[in-house]
Amino acid sequence: MAKTEDILELSVDDVSRALDKKLFSSSELTQAYIDAMSESGELNIYVDQTPELALEMAGSSDSRRSKGEVLGHMDGIPIAVKDLFCTKGVSSTAGSHILDGFKPTYESTVTKKLWESGAILLGKTNMDEFAMGSANVTSYYGPCINPWKAESGDNLGKDLVPGGSSGGSAAAVAARVALAAIGTDTGGSIRQPSSFCGIVGLKPTYGRCSRWGIISFASSLDQAGPLTRSVKDAALMLEVMAGYDPKDSTSADFEVTSYSEALSGKVEGLKIGIPAEYTLDGMPDEINSLWERGKRWLEDSGANIIDISLPHTKYALPAYYIIAPAEASSNLARYDGVRYGLRVEGEDLIDTYEKTRAQGFGAEVKRRIMIGTYVLSAGYYDAYYIQAQKVRSKIINDFDNAWSECDVILTPTAPSAAFSIGEKMDDPISMYMNDVFTVPASMAGLPAISVPAGLSNDGLPLGLHLIGPKFAEEKLLLVA
Ligand code: GLN
Repeated sequence: MAKTEDILELSVDDVSRALDKKLFSSSELTQAYIDAMSESGELNIYVDQTPELALEMAGSSDSRRSKGEVLGHMDGIPIAVKDLFCTKGVSSTAGSHILDGFKPTYESTVTKKLWESGAILLGKTNMDEFAMGSANVTSYYGPCINPWKAESGDNLGKDLVPGGSSGGSAAAVAARVALAAIGTDTGGSIRQPSSFCGIVGLKPTYGRCSRWGIISFASSLDQAGPLTRSVKDAALMLEVMAGYDPKDSTSADFEVTSYSEALSGKVEGLKIGIPAEYTLDGMPDEINSLWERGKRWLEDSGANIIDISLPHTKYALPAYYIIAPAEASSNLARYDGVRYGLRVEGEDLIDTYEKTRAQGFGAEVKRRIMIGTYVLSAGYYDAYYIQAQKVRSKIINDFDNAWSECDVILTPTAPSAAFSIGEKMDDPISMYMNDVFTVPASMAGLPAISVPAGLSNDGLPLGLHLIGPKFAEEKLLLVA
């Protein structure tokens, strides 16, 4: 068996071949990850670790392999799962106090597909409460810490955020305490943490992966996706995660193709759109030069760079912060202390509801519930919610027009590198700005991916972001 540190550096693709060659077993690999995971406590990546279950799953994988019954590339691969996915018999908290002690009696479709393909659950990862946030600082279980540290600048020596809301999943992959991970993305929650942690994060087309068994935040936007060390790994995982599910009425009945086989690396002649509206006032030079570098790479590989316009871009973020809270306020109405999770006894039923919700939800979740309830209330519905839905249609039209000019769109993933824990906490608007480049694709239901593309002046990872037409995951992964 190779040295443990070396094993932890391998990608899913490498490991799958190494397992085939019997260079090590899935049990040995899984044990190496369990050891690494148990030593990573100070980063607060996992909210629940499942080492015994992991070893049991690895044992089954090894015995299948010894009989020549390998289930595919994911067989024997230890992964981390965002705590927003319901996992049967394993605590699933959404990073919230209100789901204390909740152990679902069912398995989400996406995780079920992964286990049926032989993947192994290492544990559940930290996240912003109910996936509301961009820094993993709203978790009831405390902030997760980015394994990267600044080499210079104001944040030298400070603990940095991993991004959010899938901060734990991104940090797990970057810190080598999971070989790959899954997360969810409502407005950027896979892509922005992937950028902050120097890994690949893919948000598939809305409807590509089933939402069944994922704790809902904003149902018209939520989508599951992989967080990995390479684009090929993202393709391999998506092949397993994607597909129609009759239990999710918004899941798409489209064939799942072999995404990994589409990675020919050939981008000659492809048209890469550069939207003028993504150049923000006061955007840091390092983000601009990252973007320029991305354009050059693609041009040098034979792609054509084309200037395009997405005129309603600036309205995407404000409209998102109406639609997402509106849907959240409705989805979160179910947490009443009666059926599962936290219950704080009151004098009567109404008082029990009030006390449970007052103690069970954190400040950001309460802010969203209040905003959402307000914009849906009689008298304000037309002015805010309906208006935001109209804006959403305009954004969708912008992208539809763009696809007649280009194949994919290239932008930065986030307007900055990882910041320190505590920064932006008292300023929700500046926190919301993290999603300025990721939210438009979410609003339009489009697939998008963040790829590590360089380091900031202070030595922190920065990602480039590609957006593609609906169900064009193959092309997106190819360019990525
Ligand atoms: N940061 C955004 C928000 O707070 C997006 C979160 C997400 O994609 N889940 O809503």
